[in-house]
Amino acid sequence: MSNSAGGPRRGKILVFSAASGAGKNTLIDHLLASVPGLVYSVSATTRKPRPGEADGVNYFFLTVDEFERKVAEGEFAEWEKVHGNYYGTPRAFIETVLSGGEHIVMDIDVFGKAKFDEAYPEAVGVLIVPPSLDHLEKRLKARGADDAGTIRLRLDNARVEMDFAMAQGKYEHYIVNDDLEAAKDEVVRLVRTIIDE
Ligand code: 5GP
Repeated sequence: MSNSAGGPRRGKILVFSAASGAGKNTLIDHLLASVPGLVYSVSATTRKPRPGEADGVNYFFLTVDEFERKVAEGEFAEWEKVHGNYYGTPRAFIETVLSGGEHIVMDIDVFGKAKFDEAYPEAVGVLIVPPSLDHLEKRLKARGADDAGTIRLRLDNARVEMDFAMAQGKYEHYIVNDDLEAAKDEVVRLVRTIIDE
């Protein structure tokens, strides 16, 4: 992988968005395990860790004060309040990965992606779509990670997020996660094609 000057070719930015419960995390984990040369961009958040999540691996878990200080210092390429918590993409990490020729995989909500596009218009958007909102509700309940009030909030938000993504989002690719195994194959095939371009 080299450009005409002999240095590494700049990596690609792959941004995944979805309503939560659409199976995005499972697909991203599968992708990272299947395709070499991809690096996951660990976001910062003020939400509490879920069981099994580790600081610096799934997210950098910050207090609201810490997060707001980083916003003021311009450390995020984009940030958003999602489901009542802050989420942001650290800027410095992106440059390090791309200039080294590796590709960066990000998980950003649909509104954050629109902001992120202003800084990185070359980012390729992949929207993971649940087959239906009923389906999404069943998945969120089965996951057992959130209480009933949080699930209701996530479903209401899912409706708004999907409408925004379809009407105003810049997503070059859509994956309908109906059958998980088929969606896993599809995401690997898609990303291999994008990074070979
Ligand atoms: P969760 O709390 O379920 O891990 O994520 C909730 C939402 O936050 C998801 O829609 C996810 O895409 C979004 N999210 C995760 N990291 C970031 C980020 O760095 N920036 C933005 N804008 N959204 C993020």
